[in-house]
Amino acid sequence: MSTSTSIADALTGIHARIATSARAAGRDPSAIELVAVSKFHPQASVIAALEAGQRIFGENRVQEAAAKFPDLRTRWPELRLHIIGGLQTNKALEAVRIADMIESLDRPSLSDAIARAGEKAGRLPDLLVQVNTGDETQKSGVRLEDADAFITSSMTRFGKSMRGLMCIPPHDQDPTPHFRLLADMAARHGLPVVSMGMSADFERAIACGATLVRVGSAIFGARPAHA
Ligand SMILES: *Cc1c(COP(=O)(O)O)cnc(C)c1O
Repeated sequence: MSTSTSIADALTGIHARIATSARAAGRDPSAIELVAVSKFHPQASVIAALEAGQRIFGENRVQEAAAKFPDLRTRWPELRLHIIGGLQTNKALEAVRIADMIESLDRPSLSDAIARAGEKAGRLPDLLVQVNTGDETQKSGVRLEDADAFITSSMTRFGKSMRGLMCIPPHDQDPTPHFRLLADMAARHGLPVVSMGMSADFERAIACGATLVRVGSAIFGARPAHA
């Protein structure tokens, strides 16, 4: 866990790197939003980031997010919570209740669960379709060959709530072709949000057109061992 000063300093550094890489790519830095990935870090770290001005957070487990975030919204009403991890259908209702964006929509059964949850909860978070750009067997994300059809049907079903695409490239490959593929796919569908790039590669993602970068360890430090 990092101290509040080091979290604030890290955020300043990340914003500077975002601005530099955006300008290098001829892009406006304000077109890129930073999602601070706080999974496995305590609520105190989230509060330190909020006090430093950070407003968007990413968590990959619904239960952990539900324990950490809802009571912070009274003090920071502009806080936005993104669910970025593989989502089980039985967690869809809670995710729809607490999240402002679900970045991991990746299969029809989850679409059904989110649509039902949306009716029940009377709200629908923004949605991104996660694309398995590396076609890795163990990874969440819609397979490449099914991606276009799934994106089209999700846009029809969820309308304006369906905002864009997300990917996590394979660990052992150059991420750039995956980032390009995702940005091209989003452009082809007229979707404005492209979520890609983590601590190790967010600058390359920005060069390829990322509008959301998801950065964890470079802000909060290494995740605790049980992670
Ligand atoms: C953990 C996680 C991140 C952040 O990873 P870091 O390497 O710590 O920046 C980004 N996206 C997803 C989907 C994650 O699960």
